[in-house]
Amino acid sequence: MCPYSKTSNRGGTTTNILVTGGAGYIGTHTCIALIEAGHTVVVADNLSNSKRESIETIKRITNQEIPFYEVDISDRQAVERIFETNHIDGVIHFAGLKAVGESVEKPATYYENNLISTLVLVNSCLKYGINRFVFSSSATVYGENEVPFVETMERYPTTNPYGETKAMCERILTDIAKANPLFSVSLLRYFNPVGAHESGLIGEVPTGIPNNLMPYLTQVAKGKIDDLSIFGNDYPTIDGTGVRDYIHVMDLAEGHVAALTYLKKGAHIYNLGTGQGTSVLQLVKAFEQANGVTISYKMVPRRSGDIACCYADVDKARRELQWIAKRDVITMCKDAWRFEQNNLHQEV
Ligand code: NAD
Ligand code: UDP
Repeated sequence: MCPYSKTSNRGGTTTNILVTGGAGYIGTHTCIALIEAGHTVVVADNLSNSKRESIETIKRITNQEIPFYEVDISDRQAVERIFETNHIDGVIHFAGLKAVGESVEKPATYYENNLISTLVLVNSCLKYGINRFVFSSSATVYGENEVPFVETMERYPTTNPYGETKAMCERILTDIAKANPLFSVSLLRYFNPVGAHESGLIGEVPTGIPNNLMPYLTQVAKGKIDDLSIFGNDYPTIDGTGVRDYIHVMDLAEGHVAALTYLKKGAHIYNLGTGQGTSVLQLVKAFEQANGVTISYKMVPRRSGDIACCYADVDKARRELQWIAKRDVITMCKDAWRFEQNNLHQEV
């Protein structure tokens, strides 16, 4: 048995969950959290941004068999075959393209992939009487709003097609829930997921040079990249650098288990964040302190499209999902670094 295997069933009802995009970063961690909570999972992923080995690693960590389908979720026949051959109680829909910059260059690809897959999946759910649905949305739908971001705020026009696909999917799923009284959907708005499973066996594997801060930091620490460019030190924040709400990916994963447990009829939005803002410089210092390394950095102009400050109001998730994030920034930095040191497959 793998030393990281946990067998606890926390007393909930066992359900069989289809996890689309389950070979990806957040999907793999969520499969582990679901299995640890006593559920079983079926994974569907076209491996466009992930590898089949990640499924083997989940099996190793959890000691569970995982039916895996290499399919595109936009392929209606393939999706229906999954529902024909498995008893599925609910769906968590992670599958999607997520690179903001790429979405500006290839909007048609992003709208097609993210919208069609969601429509095919939800229509198949309705056909097969599957009424429990959890959707991966993003804090990006708040745009540049007052902090903290609260679920009751109007959606703001986002600055890129990726963000628009999230806002559109939220609207589509909300209309579907209105028209189908048995349908329950949670729209989970993630803040900034970082870190890795405590085993160091799974984590985020960016393609090429990372865009996001934490994978960039780990690659500077490893010497793959010379230094970090800090995008702007003239924001109206504690030290002039951008502030974000970093959330440990295992906390986020556990948030999905809670969302499934407390699903209720209709469409309901929940922020999944910590409620704490951390600046770029604060994260750099935390990373150095957590891991005993030095990060060399330089200040450069702001990155186009970035906002100054973003953090969540987490009260609704705490009240309605009985969930709060437990892991602190130091743990996020330690776990991200452990995975980077173990991971032999990353290329820059
Ligand atoms: P990821 O790229 O690691 O995982 C997504 C998975 O979906 C990949 O394995 C990819 O191969 C698969 N996929 C993409 N399109 C597919 C399709 N048409 N059919 C089947 N599989 C497909 O990304 P992630 O970071 O794990 O993100 C998961 C979800 O959460 C995405 O929808 C993303 O937009 C959303 N999200 C991510 C973040 C973040 O910072 N990571 C923040 C907010 C929201
Ligand atoms: N950032 C940075 N250098 C980098 C990558 C990111 O200074 O190489 C900053 C970015 O400007 C933002 C914060 O780090 O203030 C988080 O950026 P990330 O891309 O991780 O998340 P997002 O901007 O999508 O919230």
